Amino acid sequence: MEVNKIYPNFCKDGSCLKRAEFEFTDIENGKTITRGYSCDDHVEEVRKLFEEIFTEGKENNLNEYNPKSE
Ligand SMILES: [Zn+2]
Repeated sequence: MEVNKIYPNFCKDGSCLKRAEFEFTDIENGKTITRGYSCDDHVEEVRKLFEEIFTEGKENNLNEYNPKSE
């Protein structure tokens, strides 16, 4: 029997230190890789963050940042 310590993952949003509930993965060279994690509140924020980081340099990245006026 093997006993491995589990390291909790934390939300990647700026100053948020909550335990992550979501995992962000991508397929790269046929393998699933983990980009990072977010908590329940910051799924969209972290998704945007990773999209900005990992789509950098792509010509078709036409998404503009549209702040909500609410
Ligand atoms: Zn968070």
